[in-house]
Amino acid sequence: VRPLLRLGTYALVGSCLFASACAPSPPEANAPARPASPGVQAGAAVEAAEIVLSGGPILGAGGATAIAVRGGRIVGVGDERSLARRRGPGTRFVELGGRPVVVALTDAHAHVAELGLQLDQADVRECATADACAAKAAAHKGGRGGWVLGAGWDQNRFPDKAFPHRRSLDAVAGDRPVWLERVDGHAGWANSAALKIAGVTRATPDPAGGRVVRDAKGEPTGVLVDNAMALIDRALPPVDEAAREQAIERAQALALSKGLTEVHEMTVDAENVAVFRRLEREGRLKLRVVAYARGATEAERASLFAQRPDPPRPGAVFRLAGIKLYADGALGSHGAALLAPYADEPEHRGLVVTDPSALEEAARKALASGWQLAVHAIGDRANRSVLDAFERAGCKRGRDARFRIEHAQIIDRADIPRFAALGVLASMQPTHATSDMPWAPTRLGPQRLAGAYAWRSLLESGARLPAGSDAPVESIDPVLGLYAFITRQDVKGQPPGGWQPAERLRLDEAVKAFTEEAAFAAFEEPWRGRAAEGMAADLTVFDRPLDGANPASVRDAKAVMTIVGGKIVFEQRPPG
Ligand SMILES: [Zn+2]
Repeated sequence: VRPLLRLGTYALVGSCLFASACAPSPPEANAPARPASPGVQAGAAVEAAEIVLSGGPILGAGGATAIAVRGGRIVGVGDERSLARRRGPGTRFVELGGRPVVVALTDAHAHVAELGLQLDQADVRECATADACAAKAAAHKGGRGGWVLGAGWDQNRFPDKAFPHRRSLDAVAGDRPVWLERVDGHAGWANSAALKIAGVTRATPDPAGGRVVRDAKGEPTGVLVDNAMALIDRALPPVDEAAREQAIERAQALALSKGLTEVHEMTVDAENVAVFRRLEREGRLKLRVVAYARGATEAERASLFAQRPDPPRPGAVFRLAGIKLYADGALGSHGAALLAPYADEPEHRGLVVTDPSALEEAARKALASGWQLAVHAIGDRANRSVLDAFERAGCKRGRDARFRIEHAQIIDRADIPRFAALGVLASMQPTHATSDMPWAPTRLGPQRLAGAYAWRSLLESGARLPAGSDAPVESIDPVLGLYAFITRQDVKGQPPGGWQPAERLRLDEAVKAFTEEAAFAAFEEPWRGRAAEGMAADLTVFDRPLDGANPASVRDAKAVMTIVGGKIVFEQRPPG
């Protein structure tokens, strides 16, 4: 008896893996696609599972409605009847009741440690004026060593759309130094006290790849862009180990509660690597973390190339995999490097943060030593220069170095096919598109929009698209990324029909970007990323069916259970 040949049941569920793809179809159309489950032969003795989840769609598993977990791995994918033999007296049975399970939900680009720090700082994200941001920051309890710290401002929300001025902060903070990072982390806003401590004056030159914004008289306004932010960073009171640990644990709890089972942690420093490794040893790291070390300066890169990355290892919780570099800044602060001048700043083409020859040298060394590179590139000039550097260093299809371009936001159409041709991954954050769409056209003008946030074009060119959030720039909640992928609308459903809707993805493609593609981006596909026997049991249960035809169902979905490596690490308690 082959228990999987229950055509009637499969006909009901088989076509509804993604509700958007649901179409009436005859039972026999679905039956042949159902793989038999080799581990669950009738009559064979099987070990009881530790957890069985049953009665809801297992996304990406061809219509399966049940999944069994043992020893950290998936030991069965099928339906209630086929997995019945996996249920023993000690098995935790989870009745899904139609709720879906996503396997290997991953954020392929986030800053967990930074998110944790920001959760304890002033949040000036929603402020509609510079003065409102200043007042909110000054009133915040917390900070470090007498500094008022915060993040989230965005001048695009202000009535004049202009960078803020230190005067607003001076008026409310007095002698206390204040440092508020822009929402994208690519600019900061200091008050006069902070500039004084950092020694920034009208005589301070713009550093390479950075900009000290000045008023008409040449006085610093307090806003420092990209590499100029280091002038203040150097003067900040250090974050001690206890604070780092607290920050990571705080952000970990948030990530797990949103259903994430793994995060690709971008731009880690050596101190945080040490904290992650210790938390793993002590069994306190529940979220898988694949880390990309900060290689922004030549000295940082030299020290990393003197070491080796952690090799891919099945079941890894923490792994130092790669090096993160920056090719340019960000679009919001006019730091993204563009081929032609900004439409709204015709003298300016953005900032080249790392010299192309230095990128090429890093790529050569990485190819020779097994490090994976992840290079931030937003503007079309930055994306082209990174692709050029990778190509000259020897990247090509089949070499399988899996070098990544982080953001890949604005790409000249001619460069789109080069991702697949060079085997370079386009690591995208879908919520950036929906956050930037109100003002991106002003920066870019109409022609360049054709290659902006071009998910569908990249996918059809053969490029691989791991997806993430860039938290804390955006919310770490992955359903918001899925929603942005399928709608290109903000959470209120604007604009109608979506912004440049031809670049939308289907829900199954969006889920794949946040699961299988993210696992591939970390060389994990031999043991993680799919709903199949032997794969890591990293499972997320959401509270409602995810229906691509009803995007609100995706936007509003909440994780109710998160399992990492077969262990339940988050569970929503029933209300009351
Ligand atoms: Zn980032």
